[in-house]
Amino acid sequence: CGIFAYLNYHVPRTRREILEILLKGLRRLEYRGYDSAGVGIDGGNVKEWETNAKSIQLIKQRGKVKALDEEIHKQHDLDLEVELDVHLGIAHTRWATHGEPSPLNSHPHRSDKTNEFIVIHNGIITNYKDLRKFLMSKGYEFESETDTESIAKLVKYMYDNRENDDITFATLVERVTQQLEGAFALVFKSVHYPAEAVVTRRGSPLLIGVRSDHKLSTDHIPVVYRSSAKEKSCSSLPRVDQDTSLFPVDEKAVEYYFASDASAVIEHTNRVIFLEDDDVAAVTEGRLSIHRIKRRAGDYPARAIQTLQ
Ligand code: GLU
Repeated sequence: CGIFAYLNYHVPRTRREILEILLKGLRRLEYRGYDSAGVGIDGGNVKEWETNAKSIQLIKQRGKVKALDEEIHKQHDLDLEVELDVHLGIAHTRWATHGEPSPLNSHPHRSDKTNEFIVIHNGIITNYKDLRKFLMSKGYEFESETDTESIAKLVKYMYDNRENDDITFATLVERVTQQLEGAFALVFKSVHYPAEAVVTRRGSPLLIGVRSDHKLSTDHIPVVYRSSAKEKSCSSLPRVDQDTSLFPVDEKAVEYYFASDASAVIEHTNRVIFLEDDDVAAVTEGRLSIHRIKRRAGDYPARAIQTLQ
């Protein structure tokens, strides 16, 4: 029912600070109503970080954000003081539509037992039964009763069946959204694309807040058109590079906030971009780009970076 995610790029934050930002974001969304809450962050202890063996850790709890907060502090293997220079954390409050409120049915949902891909979802996927049946026939094992879990499995299916290793996270998500019916705002995180965020929406709200001390290179994000992520091979898709929809310039420090509602973002920044239906937005190496795959090239006006009053 509420989505909040935070990406810091070259802005050092301890894991404790990151979790505080996430929990605070969820508390701002509490008025929307919910029955459970959860977070997904890079896990492991300092040693694992030193050896680069990054893993994703999920912490989920039925009830209030307070219950989740307590659960987080029970995770004794989680080093809260480790400093993460670049990191994506995602958080969710759930209003159950499919499957009772329980830790297992709470978000984030995962692609598999090793948490290769995780996703948070606000909305309802109406064709989830068909997707679930298809994915089960391909050997993907489900653990929850939710409609959302089929999205987590579907993105892994797209990854497992990729035609080359250069495939971008955004392309995988574009392929997923082409299969989804219903309403959704989604945030994806993956061990295969560390510190990259891909978000999309159709029917459910989602906005992106941007914070940087450096001057942004643009006040509009052009929407990059892609003819068809499904049929064309990846190498023929336009690559997101320096010439397209990027900011800020260079390898500068920047923070991004993704939320269902501006009230969760306003204390961090007043510069926001409201996503439109079927936008797929991605942050890669600190740069934001927005893609579309439907209709024809040139149909889409650039998304303005608005200043909230
Ligand atoms: N339909 C999803 C579920 O039941 C998401 C509900 C929500 O928006 O919180 O888990």
